[in-house]
Amino acid sequence: MTRARTLLDSVPTGLWISNQSVAARSGQTFEVADPATGDLLTSVADGDADDALAALDTAVEAGPEWAATAPRTRGEILRAAFEEVTARADDFALLMTLEMGKILPESRGEVTYGAEFLRWFSEEAVRIHGRTATAPAGNGQILVVKQPVGPALAITPWNFPLAMGTRKIGPALAAGCPILVKPAEDTPLTMLLLAQVFADAGLPPGVLSVLPTTRAAEVSEALMSDPRLRKVSFTGSTGVGRQLIRQSADQILRTSMELGGNAPFIVFDDADLDTAVDGAMAAKMRNGGEACTAANRILVQNGIRPAFTEALAARIADMAVGPGYDDASALGPIINAKQLDSVAGLVDEAVAAGAIVHTGGTTLDRPGHFYAPTVLSDVPEQCAITRQEIFGPVAVISGFDTEDEAVARANATEYGLAAYFYTRDLDRVARVSAALEYGMVGVNRGVISDAAAPFGGIKASGLGVEGGSEGIEEYLNTKYIALT
Ligand code: NAD
Repeated sequence: MTRARTLLDSVPTGLWISNQSVAARSGQTFEVADPATGDLLTSVADGDADDALAALDTAVEAGPEWAATAPRTRGEILRAAFEEVTARADDFALLMTLEMGKILPESRGEVTYGAEFLRWFSEEAVRIHGRTATAPAGNGQILVVKQPVGPALAITPWNFPLAMGTRKIGPALAAGCPILVKPAEDTPLTMLLLAQVFADAGLPPGVLSVLPTTRAAEVSEALMSDPRLRKVSFTGSTGVGRQLIRQSADQILRTSMELGGNAPFIVFDDADLDTAVDGAMAAKMRNGGEACTAANRILVQNGIRPAFTEALAARIADMAVGPGYDDASALGPIINAKQLDSVAGLVDEAVAAGAIVHTGGTTLDRPGHFYAPTVLSDVPEQCAITRQEIFGPVAVISGFDTEDEAVARANATEYGLAAYFYTRDLDRVARVSAALEYGMVGVNRGVISDAAAPFGGIKASGLGVEGGSEGIEEYLNTKYIALT
């Protein structure tokens, strides 16, 4: 672990304000732990409302010049940051595995995915288009221009410590907005290292701040009640998202909300079994099941259900559990004790109600926060695990008879983030993808995220999209200028 120690010692651990790592005004710090062992990794400055407002001062000061910076220059700084994150992929991957727990190959995958938002938006910076039209009455010209919304606050979760930040930082910087990032308390280190990379890439002071804190509500409230902040972009749970939407009303902030999911993963009888099992492994077990897009409800047509269940349970039972930095591990720890208890509680309730356990079903008796990879079937409908995000390595399989039943059950949730289905029938592809009430649909594939595509949910899964050519709009105001 000497490489890990050297890396940890090189990461800035203060608040990142004005391109410098500074102590919190209170002098307080909090501990960041390795979820695989519970051991202390390092201590990080614990910012408060005053620190946050000091960071906002720097953003407000830097904002006009950044907005006026040539789009090509903004793009080139984003591109330089992309190159550096890519060159330091091993450092970013190890850091994420240390603070978040996922296995190293998945952390490397996140570096590629997360860095891609910097490259994608480096290219979008020079493609911010307005439009012109002659007024229908012929009495003037309509000129539509796009302008940066102004200082933005990004609040990010722990499950993708790099990508959830770059998905917001990329479009904000490309659009010409300064941004303050409040990373999750469990995983602040990745964003702090990224901030240093941006400073080295030439980003002017004040354009990007990072505010680690244990006082998320206090910090976000102070910033969101300050009229100088103009935008909040949140990724996290639906409950906190609802609270932030209410809070955003006072200053009428622009908001983007990437919230929870309850993804159905539907397998029709005519699907290719092996492809569907591969897809379910990716959609369920990637990131240890700790993904908003994770397959929460695996719905399998009854003709193929026994074979599918047997094949998936065999694959999942075979997963070696251990620290993410051990090459042998196929599944790392859960992020913290609270999340582990939540997963165990959901499974215990289902089992007590009569669910069948095909594999797993227990917390592992070892240091850190490990849960056995698990497959359940025959879970009674009243159990919370059928409605609630599991956010852990637990696959729940149930059967259905008809396409209409599958679609109705898939849509019977307040969420609408991602849905997946497997079939070889082209007519069914068209029907079912149209009928699913979701922001994103994967057809015969279990992983759908792409920096070039608009990621986002409907209903209780959120507002707005990140990525694609649509993503930058979240950081732009539309202005109409009437000309004669
Ligand atoms: P969370 O809502 O508890 O926390 C997310 C972030 O919000 C953290 O930075 C946290 O410190 C902060 N926060 C918590 N309470 C706050 C408050 N009162 N005011 C302001 N900020 C507050 O979620 P989590 O447990 O970190 O992440 C898991 C959730 O995130 C899941 O529900 C998952 O589905 C969701 N998620 C969604 C997406 C998406 O794109 N839709 C992506 C990843 C995760």
